[in-house]
Amino acid sequence: MTLTIAYIGLGGNLDNTLELLCSARKAIGAVPGVREIAFSSYYRSTPMGNINQPDFINAVMAVETSLTPHDLLKALQQIEHSHGRVRNGQRWGPRTLDLDLLTYGVEAFADEYLTVPHAGLSEREFVLYPMAEIAPPNMTIPGIGVLRDLVAACPKRGLESINHG
Ligand code: ATP
Ligand code: CA
Ligand code: CA
Repeated sequence: MTLTIAYIGLGGNLDNTLELLCSARKAIGAVPGVREIAFSSYYRSTPMGNINQPDFINAVMAVETSLTPHDLLKALQQIEHSHGRVRNGQRWGPRTLDLDLLTYGVEAFADEYLTVPHAGLSEREFVLYPMAEIAPPNMTIPGIGVLRDLVAACPKRGLESINHG
């Protein structure tokens, strides 16, 4: 069986995002054919566009998987669905848990469902900094460049590491 290392970006901006991300982390690690190998610190980032919303919390997880990239994405979308909605009075609130497949081994491809590596990766400080925390120092993002160089070229903006708990 071929095992591939994939990186997954987790994010959200609700009051209970930390709990959501913790729960999502456990759910990802519990998917058959997926095993957690590393998890970054949690980071707080200020929203760039509409500042009239809560800060975002992001983290990056590395997994080893026997799933295809499309099956891994499907599993992530199911976890978004089961974790990303919170009770707000009697109605379901907006989906604010976001799980993105950042990289899948050395693959680089795009189809109507999936672009790998993730399209926004090289400009996003809230992806690059947590990823660099857990990735091998010289990791190459397929088709994009060396992670260390991408981090060096990406301003940290409001990003800060936070303690969980
Ligand atoms: P962004 O992708 O810019 O971070 P977003 O996460 O808010 O934006 P979503 O609404 O969560 O976007 O996803 C839209 C679609 O993106 C999904 O239906 C999915 O099929 C597609 N998609 C393409 N590539 C990826 C990827 N690498 N990871 C997750 N979803 C992807
Ligand atoms: Ca996203
Ligand atoms: Ca997404």
